[in-house]
Amino acid sequence: MNKYNYIFAGAGLSSLMTVYEMIQSGLFLHQKILLIDADCKKTNDRTWSFWEKKYGEWDDIVSHKYETAFFKNKNFNRKLDLQPYHYKTVCGIDFYTKVFDAIRQNPNIEFLNASIHKVEEYNEGVQVITNIGNFHAEKVFNSIYNPTIVASQTQFPLVQQHFIGWFIQTTEAVFTPETATFMDFSVNQKGNTRFMYVLPTSETEALIEYTLFSPILLKKEEYETEIENYIQGLGISTYQIIEKEAGNIPMTCYPFWKHNTKNILHIGSAGGWTKASTGFTFKNTIQKSKAVVRFVQTQSDFRKFHKKDKFWWYDLLLIDILFYRNEIGSSIFSAMFKKSKAALIYKFLDEETTFWEDLKVIWQCPKRPFLKAVFCRIFANKSL
Ligand SMILES: Cc1cc2nc3c(=O)[nH]c(=O)nc-3n(C[C@H](O)[C@H](O)[C@H](O)COP(=O)(O)OP(=O)(O)OC[C@H]3O[C@@H](n4cnc5c(N)ncnc54)[C@H](O)[C@@H]3O)c2cc1C
Repeated sequence: MNKYNYIFAGAGLSSLMTVYEMIQSGLFLHQKILLIDADCKKTNDRTWSFWEKKYGEWDDIVSHKYETAFFKNKNFNRKLDLQPYHYKTVCGIDFYTKVFDAIRQNPNIEFLNASIHKVEEYNEGVQVITNIGNFHAEKVFNSIYNPTIVASQTQFPLVQQHFIGWFIQTTEAVFTPETATFMDFSVNQKGNTRFMYVLPTSETEALIEYTLFSPILLKKEEYETEIENYIQGLGISTYQIIEKEAGNIPMTCYPFWKHNTKNILHIGSAGGWTKASTGFTFKNTIQKSKAVVRFVQTQSDFRKFHKKDKFWWYDLLLIDILFYRNEIGSSIFSAMFKKSKAALIYKFLDEETTFWEDLKVIWQCPKRPFLKAVFCRIFANKSL
């Protein structure tokens, strides 16, 4: 029988970071670990950005970092000083290469390129059924996101962060490589929450991403037309598209942890590790992967790996508003970024603020939609 101590179903960000954490701890040398993924993780399939105070453990693969960022809408343009944070970028391929290099040094860890059909718990552990055979483990970490789980209920609305991004190279120097454009809401909102996200890596190169926080996806042409118009608006006439990326990240407060069993833990987006109000996952995964590795050293029932705090409630209200009043998203984010210090917003999004600091951020936002969302959740026990 193919028996392991731990199996990782899916070997993307959350699994690889958790395995890396296990390796770093030095405590799993005698445990048999198997990672299974349908993809060999050898392509640059995504670029991750996240903020962090100065130094971090992934700095050796950070390809670019910013100390300032623009926030824009039709009425104002604010240059944010991010200190003491840096906004950092990691290329997917550099992350995969680093972790797989570490895995190769550990003969107790194997990688299997296979497609997983099912993960099921039975009396003595968990069975992972793949196209090339069945594998058994005492514990399974499952990062395979099942979109039908959220789609088949209405209590926790699903807003999607959907985008297409182009890495372009221009002939003339047009970008400021020290400054990212975090959100540019000056684009036509068309009844949604739509913005441009720009990450320049040199004076002639940048990732330009047309992003929506909204329940419904667009046709590919619409994202691309908006990118073309935006590039034209920047006064760029000649450019080359070097690479493209696309994504659709779930923004929801759905309680994914309810699907955890004694021996199966859902991790990554499948485990609710994506911050609902922003779609950011990388930073959360750094913290959660450490928490998981600490957890398995002392506890064995995965149903206990979960905490629901005030930040879950804040996210819940924002997602309710974005779902039902998608057209006011720009005004909420603009109000937040117009006056507050970027460092305070980052601390709030990292869920590290005190209650008074929370109020400082929340107080900037339009009050009526939030009060209505609170009322609906508390008194009617439903979303808006
Ligand atoms: C293009 C893009 C850009 C992003 N940028 C950012 C960013 O800047 N900052 C940020 O914080 N977050 C970002 N995200 C969101 C988030 O960080 C990523 O989606 C992240 O990869 C989620 O990690 P995960 O482990 O949940 O899922 P994944 O990394 O997607 O890992 C899941 C793995 O499961 C495998 N898999 C799926 N189904 C099967 C199956 N049936 N059998 C076998 N294997 C299977 C997949 O191949 C994949 O490797 C981005 C997402 C995308 C798509």
